[in-house]
Amino acid sequence: MYAEVFDSQSVEALRQRVCVAQKIVLLSHMNADGDACGSILGCTLMLDNATKSQSVIPILPNGCPSTFEWLPASNRILSGEQHRKQCETLIEEAELIVCLDFNAPSRIDFLQEALVHSKAFKVLVDHHHNPAKDCFDIVFSDPSISSTCELLLWLSIEIWGRQHLNSDVAKCLYAGLRTDTGGFAFSCNQPSCFDAAALLVSYDIHPADIHNHIVNTFTYNRMMFYGFALTHRLEIFPTQRVAMFSFSLDDQLRYGVTGEDMEGLVNYTLMMKDIEVGALVREEPNRTKVSLRSKYDVDVNLIARKLGGGGHTKAAGATSQMTLAEMLDAVKQLLGVANEEPIKNITAA
Ligand code: 5GP
Ligand code: MN
Repeated sequence: MYAEVFDSQSVEALRQRVCVAQKIVLLSHMNADGDACGSILGCTLMLDNATKSQSVIPILPNGCPSTFEWLPASNRILSGEQHRKQCETLIEEAELIVCLDFNAPSRIDFLQEALVHSKAFKVLVDHHHNPAKDCFDIVFSDPSISSTCELLLWLSIEIWGRQHLNSDVAKCLYAGLRTDTGGFAFSCNQPSCFDAAALLVSYDIHPADIHNHIVNTFTYNRMMFYGFALTHRLEIFPTQRVAMFSFSLDDQLRYGVTGEDMEGLVNYTLMMKDIEVGALVREEPNRTKVSLRSKYDVDVNLIARKLGGGGHTKAAGATSQMTLAEMLDAVKQLLGVANEEPIKNITAA
């Protein structure tokens, strides 16, 4: 079971708010991953059950990624990009907003203004470092826990016992737990992570099916792109034990892939035994994104924060208006490889 003790006043305040709020909005971050989708959908289903007839609306800034459309109730998710005005109005008029798996309003991008200005009672349930506590009325934050889905599971049990847990909720929460631990490979030092998994599996869910949905999903194009990436777009800096991918928009267009297809590619850097820190820098329309991963002691959250981003000690990222070349320079400086000649095979291919 979860070793931390929830603040009883905060738990009671949330229980009360859920009882009386007629309009509830749930939010998670841009480019939602398994933990964002799993927590927002698991929470939606539990609140449906807990509040019966009230309105519970999950909103993601750029919608549910196709890779998580198999999750129960994913068709309920409103996309901020597709329904911007409607989402802003829902956020502004909500009585209760539950923010899941992000630590600061900037992580919901163009919806942040609506969140900040909303008069709703705002609750944060998250596991990232440095939560923006002043932006929320109650904060449940634990950076040492595996995932927001795990935190949400223990919090829901604290509030309602197990009465709103069922197979659909368990599927959602397990998806987040599985994603954020890389299949129980990292971020799972606390025994409570496995207690959570055991409890969720008891609701008749099938880990192998969920694994297939999350991992074994490559299109042919995506597979070919990975081959191209490993062969032509990987630089190795042996002295500092750093490996780095970089992709222009042209690279992505040529293979018909998007950021979603690159989810997980940065982890390939750490598969090399002599590499300790991995980075993936990619150009997006109008901005550049970096993903950072660490195998041992390097705190990539600190590096990401210097680039205006954040995340966790071993997995962090940042988004910037810099050009691809500027971002590459900045990342190389911060990783101490700006003056090191890389081993590489970067060709026009
Ligand atoms: P990924 O590299 O998979 O996109 O993200 C890894 C972690 O870094 C995520 O948990 C996320 O919270 C954090 N992260 C990724 N991109 C950004 C960003 O642009 N800003 C902030 N603050 N955190 C980010
Ligand atoms: Mn998470």
